[in-house]
Amino acid sequence: MTTLFISDLHIDASSPQITEQLIELLSAEARTAEALYILGDLFESWVGDDAADPHQIMAITALRSLTDHGVPCFVMHGNRDFLLGERFCAMSGARLLADPVIVTLYGEAVLVMHGDALCTDDRPYQRLRATVRNSEWQRRFLALPESARRALAGAARDGSRAHVSALDYAIADVNPQSVEAALRKAGTTTLLHGHTHRPAIHPLRVDDRPCTRIVLGDWHARGCVLRWDRAGPELVFLPR
Ligand code: MN
Repeated sequence: MTTLFISDLHIDASSPQITEQLIELLSAEARTAEALYILGDLFESWVGDDAADPHQIMAITALRSLTDHGVPCFVMHGNRDFLLGERFCAMSGARLLADPVIVTLYGEAVLVMHGDALCTDDRPYQRLRATVRNSEWQRRFLALPESARRALAGAARDGSRAHVSALDYAIADVNPQSVEAALRKAGTTTLLHGHTHRPAIHPLRVDDRPCTRIVLGDWHARGCVLRWDRAGPELVFLPR
């Protein structure tokens, strides 16, 4: 049996081919999987469980069909869709995961994160993250009319694009000391995350322990899946 991991699909109405490719994965390969993990940024934007658009509904319906088929599906918040909540879970049949979380895969404990919390060189982003992950801020945001929420999310997205495009390549990546600290604290030798859109399997050492950092890819131009079975992890790209 195989466990599948994906992240950073950034589904929205402007890129229907991503939704189609997800539906293809969910209706074929994922049907025989042991579980599916979505490690954040499934959606480009999520302004509340009461405000899903038709594309998001298509993806949720496909997830529902997978979970109804008996395949467990776990979803982690990303920096774009951190407001996914209980109603999303009820609609999709998915369960929300904490970030970070340790998942045991075929006997190996793996530290799993979205990855944005590791990008500690980007100080302004970390300040923003602390604000929007605050439950009181979220309660006030979700109480706004949907149109106001969409306007604020659009402005935040534009601001984020401008901010990221002005950043050094290295600053937008994970900070090596933050990676080491996370592995040390978790006591695992493997870290799996998405967010940076830089798919790779990196060897590293933490306190003389050989470790591995696996990075999932985004779905902008092609799909990306990490297949993990008894033989270990394999990062696979799905042509479109
Ligand atoms: Mn992200």
